Amino acid sequence: MDDSLARVRDEVVQCRRCPRLVAYRERVGRERKREFRDQTYWARGVPGFGDPHARLVAVGLAPAAHGSNRTGRVFTGDRSAAFLVRAFYTAGFANRPTSVARGDGLAYRDLYLTAAVRCVPPGNQPTASEASACAPYLQRELHLLSETRAILALGGFAWTAVKQAAARAYDVGVPSTPFAHGACASLGPGKPLLWASYHPSPQNTNTGKLTQPMLVDLLRAILASFETLGSQAPRAR
Ligand code: SF4
Repeated sequence: MDDSLARVRDEVVQCRRCPRLVAYRERVGRERKREFRDQTYWARGVPGFGDPHARLVAVGLAPAAHGSNRTGRVFTGDRSAAFLVRAFYTAGFANRPTSVARGDGLAYRDLYLTAAVRCVPPGNQPTASEASACAPYLQRELHLLSETRAILALGGFAWTAVKQAAARAYDVGVPSTPFAHGACASLGPGKPLLWASYHPSPQNTNTGKLTQPMLVDLLRAILASFETLGSQAPRAR
């Protein structure tokens, strides 16, 4: 059967491959945070979301316990989401500057947003085996998003996952470029560029380690790189 983004989505939502993460996502959904006590948490795998013809694919770490594990949409309903989506809006990738809940009218243009791991991990730390169990979903998305020119990793964990998944999807070696905000790795002629940003977590944004201008400047640099790559369409194998 041909693969599709819809199929990946359905599989992610139903996936129970990682017992520790399945137990945790469901426990968080039962216990809930006081301010969300009247809500039904998603408490399942969170699929990617965005424009299937995107030139930019952005990749986070994993759902947040009371963010996308609650709302069911990647980077939706918490402070990381608020920071990130404001920058996407400023750079022209989003039709509105907020990401509050599924059905809020948010749409991405030229952007597909996804994550390295699709279930909330305790302490935001998936194990190596959980990361590798989930990696095929990202690899399949990269394969299916055939107009990709740039892949932006949000944080060091995502940077490692993106380098490995892109190397498999595009049949090239894993780049050795170390993680840094603004780091850029080439996969070779005609392939997407890999970019890195600090993660938009409150820990980084409250301390000024990552600011709106830093993230917007990086998104604009990525847009500018599309002109350099021109009309040559990178393709996953
Ligand atoms: S983390 Fe990924 S592989 Fe593990 S249960 Fe969730 S969706 Fe499945």
